[in-house]
Amino acid sequence: MGIEIDNMKTKNNILHTSLYNFNLSAERLDLDDAIRRKILGPKEKVEISIDPVLSNGKVLNLKAYIVKHNDILGPAKGGIRMTSDVCLDDITGLAMEMTWKTSLIGVPFGGGKSGINFDPTSLSPSDKEIIIRAFTRGARHHIGPEIYIPAPDMGTNERDMGHIRDCISYSEGTSITKGCFVTGKPIILGGIVGRREATGKGVVYTTLAMCEELVLDITKMRVAVQGFGNVGSVAAAEIAKCGVKVVAIADLSGGIVNSDGLDIDALLQHIINNGDHGVKGFKKATEIDKNEIFGIDCDILIPAAAGSQITAENVKKIKAKIIAEGANAPTTPEADGILNQRQIHVIPDILCNAGGVFVSYLEYTQETQREQMTITQVEQRLSGRMRQRFSEVYDFAKEKGLTMREAAMDIAVRRVVEGVYARGLLP
Ligand code: NAD
Repeated sequence: MGIEIDNMKTKNNILHTSLYNFNLSAERLDLDDAIRRKILGPKEKVEISIDPVLSNGKVLNLKAYIVKHNDILGPAKGGIRMTSDVCLDDITGLAMEMTWKTSLIGVPFGGGKSGINFDPTSLSPSDKEIIIRAFTRGARHHIGPEIYIPAPDMGTNERDMGHIRDCISYSEGTSITKGCFVTGKPIILGGIVGRREATGKGVVYTTLAMCEELVLDITKMRVAVQGFGNVGSVAAAEIAKCGVKVVAIADLSGGIVNSDGLDIDALLQHIINNGDHGVKGFKKATEIDKNEIFGIDCDILIPAAAGSQITAENVKKIKAKIIAEGANAPTTPEADGILNQRQIHVIPDILCNAGGVFVSYLEYTQETQREQMTITQVEQRLSGRMRQRFSEVYDFAKEKGLTMREAAMDIAVRRVVEGVYARGLLP
């Protein structure tokens, strides 16, 4: 294959991390060139130009991207990222991650992702809606229950998914859509209870499972979290409910630390009071630079922000015994190698943060049946699936002498390979 693993080792971007992990798995599974090519390349990459007119009359010229990486096991599934630096390479790498994640967690989807290159943090709600609707119009023919089903990711949320749903049903001239076009919607529009919390809760379920395997008393654990958005805030709140001390949190506004444990409910209220401007300024804590989060004295580290955050430069500062990857591709290959040498237990992203896509799958099925699942049903299925897949990966890693990331990748890639042969796409 024309991909040089060693040359890519130090490149800190999501696509290189995804390719690197795939190539190692393909080597371990002894896949030949034909099958590697079949499952490596994205099936479709689309770049869309959108020109939304904001409420003050200003016209923006934005780039948006949709990548369908693989649809062997089902239609492409993956969130919409809206940040100032998102690019086609990132979306391709993230779409590839989704292929392995949906395969590993066992839902009938392939991998996809989309992105809008704009920083939404300073936008008014109505201007954000204008951009989301412009994206939906531009992307209309690439979104559908059998094509690509988006969901929230960095910079997007439930409200945005409601606008996508409305924009599509409006274009059809109907109140409802024919099937599920988007997940993570408001419950009143066919969304599912517990979807917003699902990724963060899944992070906690896999972290608890890891503590059980390592015979660590969870109530004695101290946790540090990078990112306090959808995933990070829910993970912090949920793990605190288990009696764990969350000693440090960082987001784009800055970092805060309290060795006695941060009061997460008070912190969430602080963020509501300051108009969603982050953790900075929280009174019951000491402020630190946001980049100091990785050097915090703690047992569990939850990266739940952007990709490529744990690098060769900062990995040596890490004191945690367990890293639970709430974010997608937060660890570069070089840093990953160092974590393995230091015998730090990494719960890999495609397992750790798969709770969101699992509950998105439940939303997809309930919409088809026009039913509403209860929160008890959703939580039972989520915790059952996360724990079951955790055990599968943990046991496979132990049996084969692999890291958790290697085991998760091999299980996931092998299922996609099986799908190719089952369809008869290769002899
Ligand atoms: P979000 O936009 O709700 O929150 C992102 C958080 O990260 C914010 O608090 C932001 O301030 C912080 N952040 C960004 N860059 C940072 C930096 N350099 N240092 C410190 N903090 C930083 O996003 P989210 O939906 O919570 O997603 C977070 C991560 O989890 C992403 O990698 C995403 O791909 C992944 N993920 C999200 C979901 C989901 O359901 N939302 C599912 C699976 C994976």
